[in-house]
Amino acid sequence: MNRRTVFITGGASGIGLGIAEAMMKQGHHVIIADINEQAAKEAVIKLAHLEGSASAVAVDVCDAQQVAALPEVLGKHTVDVLINNAGIQHVSRIEDFPADKWQQLINIMLVGPALLTQAFLPAMREQNYGRIINVGSIHSLVASPYKSAYVAAKHGLLGFSKTIALETGDCDITINTLCPAYVKTPLVEQQVAAQAKENNLTEEEVITKIMLEPMPKKQFVSVEELADTASFLMSPSARNITGQTMVLDGGWTAR
Ligand code: NAD
Repeated sequence: MNRRTVFITGGASGIGLGIAEAMMKQGHHVIIADINEQAAKEAVIKLAHLEGSASAVAVDVCDAQQVAALPEVLGKHTVDVLINNAGIQHVSRIEDFPADKWQQLINIMLVGPALLTQAFLPAMREQNYGRIINVGSIHSLVASPYKSAYVAAKHGLLGFSKTIALETGDCDITINTLCPAYVKTPLVEQQVAAQAKENNLTEEEVITKIMLEPMPKKQFVSVEELADTASFLMSPSARNITGQTMVLDGGWTAR
């Protein structure tokens, strides 16, 4: 595969960091974009021994001005692959859900991907190649209680992707959404604790009775599985896969 410039939001931790590592192993240039600048810089140092190259950029994906300035900030690096991965979670019944938190989740996981797509699409069009890979979730397809903002944002991402797939049908640009069930990352570890409190369960019970219970395969999805799926979507063989939902759910939605 050609060496690509891959821009990963939320690339300093968890799934984003894992995908960054896999992309570097394949020789790509990775731009680790994160609101946590320090963590993004540390990630670049941590991955420096790998074959590709990496740089860090600080960005809040909700900040329209910061995002619009990115192509200029990145200079010679034209983004070939945009991975919209940044995300947060907040677990609360709707009656207690703070309004500003609800808005923040939508801004990070739905408005952010739209702003980034706007920023990078013109150059992708110009070079007639682009891949936009959204990190959705099993919660793009099904709901769980106490996650109303997250589920709404992740469902919205599928509608957004389908629309942009139609708008980019005239060139070699695709947009797809990876929808994993649970992946063991800092985001999930924090959720285990929150769910335990909300449901009055132990942390072990949250994993077995809530997280893995609906999955026939009863195992966390690995970051490598997501990275390999992203690599496939970047390849020429996937040029006709667009507006699609790639579901890595251990059979959750087969029921
Ligand atoms: P994580 O907490 O390990 O990493 C998220 C990263 O996003 C962090 O580095 C954080 O600093 C960054 N971030 C947060 N807000 C940002 C903002 N406004 N602008 C830029 N960066 C920001 O989480 P993770 O588990 O790796 O999750 C990554 C993505 O995968 C999220 O979209 C999440 O919804 C999705 N996802 C995770 C799981 C899972 O089980 N971990 C399952 C399905 C989907």
